[in-house]
Amino acid sequence: MALPTAIPSPSNPTVEGRSWSGAASAALYGVNKWGEPYFSVNELGHIEVKPKGERGPTIDLVELVEGLQGRNLSLPLLIRFDNILEDRLDHLHQAFAQAIKAYDYPGHYQGVFPVKCNQQRHVVEQLIESGRRWNFGLEAGSKAELLIALSLLNDPKALLICNGYKDKRYIETAILARRLGRQPVVVIEQPDEVERIISASKELGAAPLIGIRAKLSARSTGRWGSSVGDKAKFGLAVPDILATVEALRNANLLTELKLLHFHVGSQINDIAVLKDALQEAGQIYAALCKLGAPMGYLDVGGGLGVDYDGSRTATAASKNYSLQNYANDVVATVRESCEPWGITVPTLVSESGRAIASHFSVLVFDILGTGTVPRGIPNPTDSEPLTVRNLRFTLESLIEHESKPEQPAGEPSKDQRKLEKLQEAWNDAIKFKEDALAAFRLGYLSLTDRAVAEQLTWACADRIARQLPQTGVPEELKALRSALAKTYYANLSIFRSAPDTWAIDQLFPVMPIHRLNERPNELGSFADLTCDSDGKLERFVNSGKIKTLLELHEFTPGQPYWIGMFLAGAYQEVMGNLHNLFGSTNAVNIRINENGEYQLDHVVKGDTNAQVLEAMEHNPSELLERLRVASETAIQSGQLNIQDASRLMDHLESSLRQTTYLTNKP
Ligand SMILES: *Cc1c(COP(=O)(O)O)cnc(C)c1O
Repeated sequence: MALPTAIPSPSNPTVEGRSWSGAASAALYGVNKWGEPYFSVNELGHIEVKPKGERGPTIDLVELVEGLQGRNLSLPLLIRFDNILEDRLDHLHQAFAQAIKAYDYPGHYQGVFPVKCNQQRHVVEQLIESGRRWNFGLEAGSKAELLIALSLLNDPKALLICNGYKDKRYIETAILARRLGRQPVVVIEQPDEVERIISASKELGAAPLIGIRAKLSARSTGRWGSSVGDKAKFGLAVPDILATVEALRNANLLTELKLLHFHVGSQINDIAVLKDALQEAGQIYAALCKLGAPMGYLDVGGGLGVDYDGSRTATAASKNYSLQNYANDVVATVRESCEPWGITVPTLVSESGRAIASHFSVLVFDILGTGTVPRGIPNPTDSEPLTVRNLRFTLESLIEHESKPEQPAGEPSKDQRKLEKLQEAWNDAIKFKEDALAAFRLGYLSLTDRAVAEQLTWACADRIARQLPQTGVPEELKALRSALAKTYYANLSIFRSAPDTWAIDQLFPVMPIHRLNERPNELGSFADLTCDSDGKLERFVNSGKIKTLLELHEFTPGQPYWIGMFLAGAYQEVMGNLHNLFGSTNAVNIRINENGEYQLDHVVKGDTNAQVLEAMEHNPSELLERLRVASETAIQSGQLNIQDASRLMDHLESSLRQTTYLTNKP
């Protein structure tokens, strides 16, 4: 007899009760919160995408994946919705336009995209194209990013903010690029950079546009809290700012000082942190004007947060403000800082990366199988040893207790009594199992009987977990639930496709993209293809909190079970590595055409095995040749027949041309 495996999630009341619907799934996984307005659940129980936000047509994500598979684009698959990228950019500019109007700000907003957030050519080009009407620019943090920005940014009015460590060549490049009609602003981040700027300017007889990055003392929170404050890696402390201004004045370069920059850190959770920083920076800006610098731009950096769990709280995976709150605060605070001094307000610049690039890409992966603790209740035999019989007795009394008529639930004293009973049963089960193990070690219990004892213990655990009341459950019994949970094996490398979940415990919304009309009766977490025990996904968004188990559907071998990871377009795509030599996944860009239908705009096939081998300086044809020689020798010595040898070489050769992930295709 197979044990029913349902363990309803007690933390979520929507899982209780009889009926189930797509709306219940939307609430359970929070997609109605973090997904707005791009992702929702449709009547088929599939995830539906609205690439143009509220305005536009919808795409059924499941049908899309099926269509892509028909085009030989197998899972795992990174799907990028270019229209979402555009829509995000649009919203950012609308928010600032609205704030500028509401606060009567006598200046304007001109943003840049920090290239490090997603350096893909297609992404950068797309942003420049859609951002042209606002003269949207780029921010570069290294020479390679500067090269990208200089060559792609062809709008003479757009800003090109140059951050990061700068040597003389970096600075000279920026100076010379001004003659190409670009607007690079060299931001001084380290006190010694000013000397390099001065000497390069003298040598070339031309100067760059200059900015200063301030090291603010404002407090900060969150993971990137150390990006500000006295110990920050970048930026000039106030005494250094004053010394830099004097050095520029003496070199006749103060006329080029146009911009003040600060960056509070990524994913600002609490708007209060930003307000403090804005006030401090506003005063420094005013002071620089008074010192005679022409100024004109205040760059408030990145940090505009993404609400990964939709809870709108000041927690790690969320933020306690909207895009409009953010724009309002920037505009209002800067205006307040300038007004008393009679200073012209600056053009406001922001370097929002995460907020622009997160939503547009979705990673879809498939489940290959599940793993679980031994399940099922073995049939009793006549000769069962005492310890095994004891376990069977414990289980039977648990089952009996379960089938008793339902007592009025939620009554504290009743819950308490029930808990005591369950705890007692668990103590018994553990004791009998230990007895069984001791007997086995001493040779009194057969391997088969030991297996039965283990199975019965798990069956007890399962029965107990299902009877636990909602509250007041001690840790030991709570832990049973995770011990019983299933592992879903995912065709995916965490290190390639979701590095932040592993490196910095970043949370992303993860959920099935279909079967959402069906009650998810299992609790589980994911394990990836790598041989690394860190290759797991076991922290899930839970409305301001974290859950370690996700509600999932029963997996049927041979039937697709597709999982989506959402809001992962920023940083993830470009920081992944080749752990276990799992390479990039297939990726497609989807765009909605005039008829509201989707079209493939751009397809990038994932790395082949040959490509990842070459990245590690192996020569695939040499590897193949060695194996050919080895199989020739094996044929000679009669270990391998010619037919098998050719089959082996066939597999080796074709796998070099194939994806690094598992496929069901020959
Ligand atoms: C990383 C970074 C950004 C982007 O931050 P987001 O949180 O993605 O908006 C902006 N400016 C600087 C200087 C950065 O280092």
